[in-house]
Amino acid sequence: MKRDEKPELKIKIRGLDEGVHPVEIRMDASVLELPAFSGELVVHGTLEKRQERLILDVVANMRGAFECTRCTDPFTRLISAHSRLEFMPPSLTKGDMDDEDTHVYDPIADAYIVFTEDIRDAVVLAIPMKNLCRENCKGLCQTCGKNLNREECDCLPAEIDNQWSALKGLQERLRAEENKRTDDSE
Ligand SMILES: [Zn+2]
Ligand SMILES: [Zn+2]
Repeated sequence: MKRDEKPELKIKIRGLDEGVHPVEIRMDASVLELPAFSGELVVHGTLEKRQERLILDVVANMRGAFECTRCTDPFTRLISAHSRLEFMPPSLTKGDMDDEDTHVYDPIADAYIVFTEDIRDAVVLAIPMKNLCRENCKGLCQTCGKNLNREECDCLPAEIDNQWSALKGLQERLRAEENKRTDDSE
């Protein structure tokens, strides 16, 4: 291997026997070039060879550092991303290459299948949209900004404020109606 060669997630396929083979790759998570992830990346699962068709079915596990979407505190969590990829020679693809999980390879020329980008995409998708430091994170007070996981504050919760303004609106409407009625009776 050349020393300046970029690390990749790959499996040697030259000389691979027919059937199902276990896959276990451990390498530094920096291979994914996702700044949130560091430490060890473990990719495990199976690679199945059915004649010239290769089916890679793996789960990637690693720890990421995030910011809670509710309270903004930093925290780490284990991310697991599943990928099922197919590799086939051009003769087998028959124009169904719209599927981004299907890749073309050359069974004669290619010694390896490379899937770094597929795993990167799967990992990005596996990060929850609502990425919370804990399931019941109380978040920040919308009024004073205190982190309610660590301390309490005396602000009225936003919903109560809304209830008050709803009540005030009702009160104003009732008053207006009352004034109208008094005006009519005069
Ligand atoms: Zn939080
Ligand atoms: Zn507050």
